[in-house]
Amino acid sequence: MTIELDIRNESFSDNDDELDKKLRPLQFKNFSGQNQIVENLKIFVQAAKMRGESLDHVLLHGPPGLGKTTLSNIIAKELDVGIKITSGPVLDKPGDLAGLLTNLEENDVLFIDEIHRLSPIVEEYLYSAMEDFRIDIMIDKGPSARSVQLELNSFTLIGATTRSGLLTSPLRARFGINSHLEYYDADVLTGIVKRSARILDVNITGDAAKEIAFRSRGTPRIVNSLLRRVRDFAQVTGNGSIDMEITKYSLKALNIDKYGLDEMDNRILLCIIDKFKGGPVGISTIATAVSEDSGTIEEVYEPFLIKEGFIKRTPRGREVTDLAYKHLGRIKYGDPPSLF
Ligand code: ADP
Repeated sequence: MTIELDIRNESFSDNDDELDKKLRPLQFKNFSGQNQIVENLKIFVQAAKMRGESLDHVLLHGPPGLGKTTLSNIIAKELDVGIKITSGPVLDKPGDLAGLLTNLEENDVLFIDEIHRLSPIVEEYLYSAMEDFRIDIMIDKGPSARSVQLELNSFTLIGATTRSGLLTSPLRARFGINSHLEYYDADVLTGIVKRSARILDVNITGDAAKEIAFRSRGTPRIVNSLLRRVRDFAQVTGNGSIDMEITKYSLKALNIDKYGLDEMDNRILLCIIDKFKGGPVGISTIATAVSEDSGTIEEVYEPFLIKEGFIKRTPRGREVTDLAYKHLGRIKYGDPPSLF
Protein backbone atom coordinates (compact mmCIF):
# COMPACT_ATOMS: atom_id res chain seq x y z
CA MET A 1 0.00 0.00 0.00
CA THR A 2 2.72 2.42 1.05
CA ILE A 3 4.82 1.48 -1.96
CA GLU A 4 1.91 2.03 -4.33
CA LEU A 5 1.37 5.50 -2.89
CA ASP A 6 5.05 6.33 -3.24
CA ILE A 7 5.06 5.32 -6.86
CA ARG A 8 1.99 7.41 -7.55
CA ASN A 9 3.50 10.39 -5.78
CA GLU A 10 6.71 9.98 -7.73
CA SER A 11 5.02 9.97 -11.11
CA PHE A 12 2.70 12.80 -10.11
CA SER A 13 5.51 15.05 -8.92
CA ASP A 14 7.29 14.59 -12.21
CA ASN A 15 4.43 15.26 -14.61
CA ASP A 16 4.34 18.40 -16.71
CA ASP A 17 1.50 20.07 -14.78
CA GLU A 18 3.37 19.79 -11.52
CA LEU A 19 6.56 21.08 -13.12
CA ASP A 20 4.62 23.93 -14.63
CA LYS A 21 3.43 24.96 -11.16
CA LYS A 22 6.99 24.88 -9.85
CA LEU A 23 8.20 27.12 -12.65
CA ARG A 24 5.43 29.71 -12.32
CA PRO A 25 6.70 32.95 -10.74
CA LEU A 26 4.73 33.86 -7.60
CA GLN A 27 5.82 37.48 -7.14
CA PHE A 28 6.31 40.50 -9.36
CA LYS A 29 10.03 40.35 -8.71
CA ASN A 30 10.31 36.90 -10.36
CA PHE A 31 8.15 37.83 -13.32
CA SER A 32 10.58 38.83 -16.08
CA GLY A 33 9.77 41.13 -18.98
CA GLN A 34 6.59 43.12 -19.75
CA ASN A 35 8.30 45.86 -17.73
CA GLN A 36 5.90 48.72 -18.28
CA ILE A 37 2.85 46.58 -17.52
CA VAL A 38 4.42 45.20 -14.34
CA GLU A 39 5.58 48.63 -13.16
CA ASN A 40 2.08 50.05 -13.66
CA LEU A 41 0.40 47.10 -11.96
CA LYS A 42 2.71 47.45 -8.95
CA ILE A 43 1.57 51.07 -8.53
CA PHE A 44 -2.13 50.23 -8.96
CA VAL A 45 -1.87 47.33 -6.50
CA GLN A 46 -0.08 49.47 -3.93
CA ALA A 47 -2.60 52.30 -4.31
CA ALA A 48 -5.56 49.93 -3.90
CA LYS A 49 -3.96 48.43 -0.80
CA MET A 50 -3.29 51.88 0.68
CA ARG A 51 -6.93 52.84 0.21
CA GLY A 52 -8.16 49.45 1.44
CA GLU A 53 -10.22 49.15 -1.75
CA SER A 54 -10.46 46.49 -4.42
CA LEU A 55 -8.19 46.95 -7.42
CA ASP A 56 -9.97 48.21 -10.53
CA HIS A 57 -10.96 45.45 -12.98
CA VAL A 58 -8.07 44.30 -15.17
CA LEU A 59 -8.13 43.02 -18.76
CA LEU A 60 -5.02 41.13 -19.91
CA HIS A 61 -4.81 40.27 -23.56
CA GLY A 62 -2.22 38.72 -25.83
CA PRO A 63 -1.23 35.38 -27.36
CA PRO A 64 -1.26 32.20 -25.23
CA GLY A 65 1.61 31.38 -22.88
CA LEU A 66 2.80 34.96 -22.28
CA GLY A 67 1.91 35.04 -18.57
CA LYS A 68 -1.71 36.23 -18.22
CA THR A 69 -2.64 33.53 -15.68
CA THR A 70 0.68 33.94 -13.90
CA LEU A 71 0.24 37.71 -13.59
CA SER A 72 -3.30 37.31 -12.27
CA ASN A 73 -2.11 34.99 -9.50
CA ILE A 74 0.70 37.41 -8.68
CA ILE A 75 -1.74 40.34 -8.50
CA ALA A 76 -3.94 38.45 -5.99
CA LYS A 77 -0.91 37.45 -3.94
CA GLU A 78 0.51 40.97 -3.90
CA LEU A 79 -2.91 42.34 -2.96
CA ASP A 80 -2.95 39.74 -0.21
CA VAL A 81 -6.41 38.52 -1.18
CA GLY A 82 -7.94 35.26 -2.38
CA ILE A 83 -8.40 34.29 -6.02
CA LYS A 84 -11.11 32.22 -7.68
CA ILE A 85 -10.29 30.91 -11.12
CA THR A 86 -12.73 30.00 -13.88
CA SER A 87 -13.06 30.35 -17.63
CA GLY A 88 -15.56 31.76 -20.12
CA PRO A 89 -16.77 28.47 -21.62
CA VAL A 90 -17.25 26.87 -18.18
CA LEU A 91 -19.45 29.68 -16.88
CA ASP A 92 -22.42 28.92 -19.09
CA LYS A 93 -25.27 29.64 -16.66
CA PRO A 94 -25.94 32.87 -14.70
CA GLY A 95 -26.40 30.67 -11.61
CA ASP A 96 -22.76 29.50 -11.86
CA LEU A 97 -21.59 33.11 -11.97
CA ALA A 98 -23.84 34.08 -9.04
CA GLY A 99 -22.43 31.18 -7.01
CA LEU A 100 -18.87 32.33 -7.63
CA LEU A 101 -19.56 36.01 -6.99
CA THR A 102 -21.43 35.49 -3.74
CA ASN A 103 -18.54 33.41 -2.41
CA LEU A 104 -15.93 36.13 -2.92
CA GLU A 105 -14.55 37.80 0.19
CA GLU A 106 -14.00 41.56 0.35
CA ASN A 107 -11.48 42.70 -2.36
CA ASP A 108 -10.89 39.14 -3.69
CA VAL A 109 -9.91 38.48 -7.29
CA LEU A 110 -12.12 36.60 -9.74
CA PHE A 111 -10.05 35.41 -12.71
CA ILE A 112 -11.95 34.54 -15.89
CA ASP A 113 -9.75 33.01 -18.57
CA GLU A 114 -10.93 33.12 -22.21
CA ILE A 115 -13.36 35.83 -21.24
CA HIS A 116 -14.28 36.37 -24.90
CA ARG A 117 -16.10 33.02 -24.74
CA LEU A 118 -18.62 34.05 -22.06
CA SER A 119 -22.21 33.49 -23.09
CA PRO A 120 -24.08 36.79 -23.76
CA ILE A 121 -26.50 36.15 -20.89
CA VAL A 122 -23.73 35.57 -18.33
CA GLU A 123 -21.95 38.63 -19.68
CA GLU A 124 -25.04 40.79 -19.00
CA TYR A 125 -25.10 39.64 -15.39
CA LEU A 126 -21.45 40.51 -15.08
CA TYR A 127 -22.07 44.16 -16.02
CA SER A 128 -23.92 45.10 -12.82
CA ALA A 129 -21.60 42.93 -10.73
CA MET A 130 -18.58 44.80 -12.09
CA GLU A 131 -20.11 48.24 -11.89
CA ASP A 132 -22.19 48.28 -8.69
CA PHE A 133 -21.12 45.07 -6.95
CA ARG A 134 -24.63 43.72 -7.06
CA ILE A 135 -26.37 41.09 -9.10
CA ASP A 136 -30.03 40.50 -9.93
CA ILE A 137 -31.01 36.89 -10.05
CA MET A 138 -34.32 35.39 -11.08
CA ILE A 139 -35.81 32.83 -8.76
CA ASP A 140 -38.69 30.52 -9.61
CA LYS A 141 -40.24 30.18 -13.01
CA GLY A 142 -43.54 31.11 -14.60
CA PRO A 143 -46.02 33.38 -12.75
CA SER A 144 -44.15 33.21 -9.44
CA ALA A 145 -40.82 34.21 -11.03
CA ARG A 146 -39.27 37.23 -9.34
CA SER A 147 -35.98 39.00 -9.36
CA VAL A 148 -33.89 39.26 -6.20
CA GLN A 149 -31.01 41.65 -5.81
CA LEU A 150 -27.90 40.37 -4.07
CA GLU A 151 -25.26 42.71 -2.68
CA LEU A 152 -21.72 41.48 -3.34
CA ASN A 153 -18.42 42.17 -1.66
CA SER A 154 -16.28 44.48 -3.76
CA PHE A 155 -13.96 42.42 -5.93
CA THR A 156 -11.53 42.67 -8.85
CA LEU A 157 -12.37 40.89 -12.05
CA ILE A 158 -9.29 39.92 -14.06
CA GLY A 159 -10.23 38.85 -17.55
CA ALA A 160 -7.72 37.15 -19.84
CA THR A 161 -8.18 36.76 -23.55
CA THR A 162 -6.23 35.84 -26.64
CA ARG A 163 -8.88 37.54 -28.81
CA SER A 164 -9.63 40.99 -27.41
CA GLY A 165 -11.26 41.88 -30.73
CA LEU A 166 -14.10 39.48 -29.90
CA LEU A 167 -14.96 41.29 -26.66
CA THR A 168 -18.14 43.36 -26.77
CA SER A 169 -17.62 47.09 -26.21
CA PRO A 170 -19.79 47.26 -23.03
CA LEU A 171 -17.66 44.56 -21.41
CA ARG A 172 -14.38 46.08 -22.55
CA ALA A 173 -15.45 49.50 -21.24
CA ARG A 174 -15.89 48.11 -17.73
CA PHE A 175 -12.20 47.32 -17.30
CA GLY A 176 -10.29 50.21 -15.74
CA ILE A 177 -6.90 48.63 -16.45
CA ASN A 178 -6.26 47.25 -19.89
CA SER A 179 -2.90 45.66 -20.77
CA HIS A 180 -1.65 43.99 -23.90
CA LEU A 181 1.12 41.45 -23.31
CA GLU A 182 3.78 41.37 -26.03
CA TYR A 183 6.05 38.54 -27.15
CA TYR A 184 9.27 38.43 -25.08
CA ASP A 185 12.69 39.27 -26.47
CA ALA A 186 15.43 36.66 -26.52
CA ASP A 187 17.39 38.18 -23.61
CA VAL A 188 14.45 38.05 -21.22
CA LEU A 189 13.64 34.50 -22.37
CA THR A 190 17.26 33.45 -21.80
CA GLY A 191 16.88 34.64 -18.22
CA ILE A 192 13.68 32.58 -17.88
CA VAL A 193 15.47 29.45 -19.25
CA LYS A 194 18.24 29.89 -16.69
CA ARG A 195 15.79 30.42 -13.81
CA SER A 196 13.74 27.36 -14.82
CA ALA A 197 16.90 25.24 -15.20
CA ARG A 198 17.90 26.22 -11.66
CA ILE A 199 14.49 25.20 -10.32
CA LEU A 200 14.63 21.91 -12.26
CA ASP A 201 18.16 21.40 -10.95
CA VAL A 202 19.77 20.85 -14.34
CA ASN A 203 23.04 22.35 -15.57
CA ILE A 204 22.83 24.40 -18.75
CA THR A 205 25.48 26.35 -20.64
CA GLY A 206 24.90 30.02 -21.51
CA ASP A 207 24.85 29.40 -25.26
CA ALA A 208 22.38 26.51 -24.91
CA ALA A 209 20.06 28.70 -22.81
CA LYS A 210 20.23 31.37 -25.52
CA GLU A 211 19.49 28.84 -28.25
CA ILE A 212 16.39 27.51 -26.45
CA ALA A 213 15.22 31.08 -25.82
CA PHE A 214 15.72 32.02 -29.46
CA ARG A 215 13.65 29.07 -30.71
CA SER A 216 10.70 29.57 -28.36
CA ARG A 217 8.48 31.90 -30.40
CA GLY A 218 8.91 34.70 -27.85
CA THR A 219 6.80 32.68 -25.37
CA PRO A 220 7.74 31.66 -21.79
CA ARG A 221 5.43 28.62 -21.84
CA ILE A 222 7.29 27.29 -24.91
CA VAL A 223 10.65 28.09 -23.26
CA ASN A 224 9.70 25.91 -20.32
CA SER A 225 8.35 23.05 -22.38
CA LEU A 226 11.39 23.04 -24.73
CA LEU A 227 13.69 23.11 -21.72
CA ARG A 228 11.91 20.08 -20.24
CA ARG A 229 12.16 18.17 -23.51
CA VAL A 230 15.84 19.03 -23.98
CA ARG A 231 16.41 17.91 -20.39
CA ASP A 232 14.83 14.54 -21.32
CA PHE A 233 17.24 14.15 -24.25
CA ALA A 234 20.17 15.20 -22.06
CA GLN A 235 19.28 12.64 -19.40
CA VAL A 236 18.61 9.74 -21.75
CA THR A 237 21.14 10.24 -24.55
CA GLY A 238 23.70 12.52 -22.86
CA ASN A 239 25.24 13.03 -19.44
CA GLY A 240 22.33 14.95 -17.92
CA SER A 241 23.77 18.44 -18.54
CA ILE A 242 22.45 20.65 -21.30
CA ASP A 243 25.01 22.01 -23.77
CA MET A 244 24.75 23.37 -27.30
CA GLU A 245 25.23 19.97 -28.93
CA ILE A 246 22.40 18.22 -27.09
CA THR A 247 20.19 21.31 -27.53
CA LYS A 248 20.63 21.34 -31.31
CA TYR A 249 20.12 17.59 -31.47
CA SER A 250 16.90 17.80 -29.42
CA LEU A 251 15.47 20.78 -31.32
CA LYS A 252 16.07 18.92 -34.59
CA ALA A 253 14.31 15.85 -33.21
CA LEU A 254 11.42 18.10 -32.14
CA ASN A 255 11.17 19.63 -35.62
CA ILE A 256 11.79 23.19 -34.42
CA ASP A 257 13.64 25.11 -37.11
CA LYS A 258 16.24 27.86 -36.74
CA TYR A 259 13.61 30.61 -36.47
CA GLY A 260 11.73 28.65 -33.79
CA LEU A 261 8.96 27.77 -36.25
CA ASP A 262 7.38 24.39 -35.65
CA GLU A 263 5.79 21.94 -38.05
CA MET A 264 2.41 23.70 -38.15
CA ASP A 265 3.96 27.15 -38.74
CA ASN A 266 5.84 25.75 -41.71
CA ARG A 267 2.78 23.87 -42.98
CA ILE A 268 0.80 27.11 -42.97
CA LEU A 269 3.51 28.96 -44.92
CA LEU A 270 3.96 26.11 -47.41
CA CYS A 271 0.21 25.85 -47.90
CA ILE A 272 -0.10 29.55 -48.79
CA ILE A 273 2.89 29.32 -51.15
CA ASP A 274 2.14 26.00 -52.85
CA LYS A 275 -1.65 25.96 -52.93
CA PHE A 276 -2.51 29.64 -53.17
CA LYS A 277 0.44 31.12 -55.06
CA GLY A 278 1.59 33.01 -51.98
CA GLY A 279 -1.84 34.55 -51.28
CA PRO A 280 -3.83 36.59 -50.60
CA VAL A 281 -6.02 33.89 -49.10
CA GLY A 282 -8.62 33.92 -46.30
CA ILE A 283 -7.91 32.44 -42.89
CA SER A 284 -10.75 29.89 -43.07
CA THR A 285 -9.43 28.57 -46.39
CA ILE A 286 -5.95 28.16 -44.89
CA ALA A 287 -7.49 26.45 -41.85
CA THR A 288 -9.33 23.92 -44.00
CA ALA A 289 -6.24 23.26 -46.11
CA VAL A 290 -4.02 22.51 -43.10
CA SER A 291 -6.82 20.80 -41.08
CA GLU A 292 -6.59 23.16 -38.13
CA ASP A 293 -9.19 25.32 -36.40
CA SER A 294 -9.24 28.85 -37.86
CA GLY A 295 -9.44 30.41 -34.34
CA THR A 296 -6.29 28.54 -33.33
CA ILE A 297 -4.46 29.73 -36.44
CA GLU A 298 -5.53 33.31 -35.72
CA GLU A 299 -4.68 33.20 -32.00
CA VAL A 300 -1.64 30.96 -31.84
CA TYR A 301 0.21 30.75 -35.13
CA GLU A 302 -0.50 33.86 -37.13
CA PRO A 303 0.55 36.57 -34.62
CA PHE A 304 4.08 35.17 -34.39
CA LEU A 305 4.37 34.62 -38.15
CA ILE A 306 3.31 38.24 -38.67
CA LYS A 307 5.64 39.56 -35.97
CA GLU A 308 8.61 37.73 -37.48
CA GLY A 309 7.72 39.00 -40.96
CA PHE A 310 6.72 35.71 -42.65
CA ILE A 311 3.11 36.69 -43.30
CA LYS A 312 1.31 39.96 -43.81
CA ARG A 313 -2.34 40.78 -43.49
CA THR A 314 -3.90 42.58 -46.43
CA PRO A 315 -7.53 43.64 -46.97
CA ARG A 316 -7.91 40.65 -49.34
CA GLY A 317 -6.42 38.04 -47.00
CA ARG A 318 -3.07 36.67 -45.82
CA GLU A 319 0.03 36.86 -48.01
CA VAL A 320 3.43 35.33 -47.40
CA THR A 321 6.48 37.62 -47.63
CA ASP A 322 9.79 37.19 -49.47
CA LEU A 323 11.31 35.99 -46.20
CA ALA A 324 8.94 33.00 -46.18
CA TYR A 325 9.96 32.04 -49.75
CA LYS A 326 13.62 32.32 -48.78
CA HIS A 327 13.19 30.39 -45.55
CA LEU A 328 11.42 27.51 -47.28
CA GLY A 329 13.62 27.57 -50.39
CA ARG A 330 10.68 28.23 -52.73
CA ILE A 331 10.65 30.46 -55.81
CA LYS A 332 8.07 33.23 -55.80
CA TYR A 333 5.19 32.68 -58.21
CA GLY A 334 5.82 34.84 -61.28
CA ASP A 335 9.53 35.34 -60.56
CA PRO A 336 11.77 33.97 -63.31
CA PRO A 337 13.82 31.01 -62.07
CA SER A 338 17.37 32.00 -61.21
CA LEU A 339 19.90 31.14 -63.93
CA PHE A 340 22.73 30.88 -61.43
P1 ADP B 1 -1.19 32.55 -20.35
O1 ADP B 1 -2.17 32.60 -19.20
O2 ADP B 1 -0.92 33.89 -20.96
O3 ADP B 1 -1.55 31.53 -21.39
P2 ADP B 1 0.59 31.51 -18.33
O4 ADP B 1 0.52 32.57 -17.29
O5 ADP B 1 -0.15 30.24 -18.09
O6 ADP B 1 0.23 32.10 -19.76
O7 ADP B 1 2.18 31.20 -18.53
C1 ADP B 1 2.64 29.98 -19.04
C2 ADP B 1 3.89 29.56 -18.29
O8 ADP B 1 4.96 30.42 -18.66
C3 ADP B 1 3.77 29.67 -16.77
O9 ADP B 1 3.64 28.40 -16.20
C4 ADP B 1 5.04 30.30 -16.29
O10 ADP B 1 5.87 29.31 -15.74
C5 ADP B 1 5.72 30.83 -17.52
N1 ADP B 1 5.79 32.30 -17.53
C6 ADP B 1 4.91 33.14 -18.10
N2 ADP B 1 5.32 34.41 -18.00
C7 ADP B 1 6.50 34.38 -17.36
C8 ADP B 1 7.43 35.39 -16.97
N3 ADP B 1 7.22 36.67 -17.27
N4 ADP B 1 8.56 35.01 -16.31
C9 ADP B 1 8.77 33.70 -16.05
N5 ADP B 1 7.94 32.70 -16.41
C10 ADP B 1 6.81 33.02 -17.05
